[in-house]
Amino acid sequence: MSPVLPSDARGWRERARSFVAHSVAPVAEQIDREDRIPDALLRGLAEAGFLGLGIPPEWDGNGGDARATVAVLEELSRASAAVGVLVAVHLSVCSLPILSWGTDAQCGEFLRPLARGEQIGAFALTEPNAGSDPASLRTRYSRDENGFVLEGTKTFISNGVSAGVVLVFATRDPALGHRGISAFIVPPGTAGFSVAQRFDKLGMRGSETAELVLHEVRLPPQSLLGAEGEGLRVALGALQGGRVGIASCALGVAEAAFALMVSAVSREDADWKRTVIARSYADLASARALVALAAQRKDSGESYVEEASVAKLVASRAAVQIASAGVDVAGPTGVRAGSPAERLLRDARVFPIVEGTTEIQELILARNIISPRDGRNPL
Ligand SMILES: Cc1cc2nc3c(=O)[nH]c(=O)nc-3n(C[C@H](O)[C@H](O)[C@H](O)COP(=O)(O)OP(=O)(O)OC[C@H]3O[C@@H](n4cnc5c(N)ncnc54)[C@H](O)[C@@H]3O)c2cc1C
Repeated sequence: MSPVLPSDARGWRERARSFVAHSVAPVAEQIDREDRIPDALLRGLAEAGFLGLGIPPEWDGNGGDARATVAVLEELSRASAAVGVLVAVHLSVCSLPILSWGTDAQCGEFLRPLARGEQIGAFALTEPNAGSDPASLRTRYSRDENGFVLEGTKTFISNGVSAGVVLVFATRDPALGHRGISAFIVPPGTAGFSVAQRFDKLGMRGSETAELVLHEVRLPPQSLLGAEGEGLRVALGALQGGRVGIASCALGVAEAAFALMVSAVSREDADWKRTVIARSYADLASARALVALAAQRKDSGESYVEEASVAKLVASRAAVQIASAGVDVAGPTGVRAGSPAERLLRDARVFPIVEGTTEIQELILARNIISPRDGRNPL
């Protein structure tokens, strides 16, 4: 691995801890109950600089590397998975792809307000009939004399109700497969772009999940992100970074569930409870190490495909296992609606699905292990 520069992650983690104690933990239960993140908290996230993490100051961002970002996402998610996921989506699958693929003009117009936290970002790839296989998406675009016209439906889009900037993926012709797909930046208030519905969810409540409809959405030529036909590369690159972010959110939930479990067990408790703690600790330690490795590898500038997938797979599994074991340890109070153990289990259950399901991570890992890319020897 290439040498990685020292990270400013420790300072960011401390800032996130103090922010969480004052601004997130006190409203975490309310966020879940009301399925809404308060406006004051959103403003606080922007003021603390978390919405500009990983974006250079030249675009009004706050710097910080991948290790700083995972530290912040983990701390936010320890208190509220919804808050962690809002920031993870805003950064990893909207702002950072614009930074990577955008022209200076696009960064000036779209990235600046995202980095300042004046607008929230979203990523719209999934469709009612295209989830794990995004190359089969059906949202169409065509060219006209003024640019592009988009038509289609996107579903399960995080931050989809409040987002000011949405990355939308569409195909010129489904028969072209992945070569037909392009990425577009859709700004706020675009005519024909609307929220069709907002889904009520089992967990991660407070994180908006919406169906978006594009009907004769007209975009100027400068809305195209990357070259025409490069959209799937933009999407897959974004999802790779997104997996590291989501893994750190899952890690935060796993840590919260573990801390709750430990606080409920004493030395005198039954042996099985102590065994559960030992096993959960091992799961947590694996997830922590893999998230750190993925972030470090990302900061090194080298390929981190396997690291992102294995971190996402193990951290989301750890979150579900530890939160589930936490309900066992808590006993009947653990299943009471609104109890901390119950909320953590509901939140944890969403992680294996988002940003590529567990089965998709297994496919990515198997493919890269059997046919290593870049000459890497996975053994
Ligand atoms: C809370 C939430 C937030 C989300 N946020 C976003 C977002 O912001 N932007 C966005 O674009 N999407 C978002 N999604 C969508 C998410 O990425 C998809 O749900 C996910 O990719 C799975 O797609 P699908 O739901 O169509 O399931 P399918 O692809 O139909 O999969 C169904 C099941 O089959 C399995 N499966 C599918 N293909 C294979 C295969 N080849 N081999 C083995 N198993 C397979 C899957 O693992 C899964 O268990 C979100 C989803 C949720 C639940």
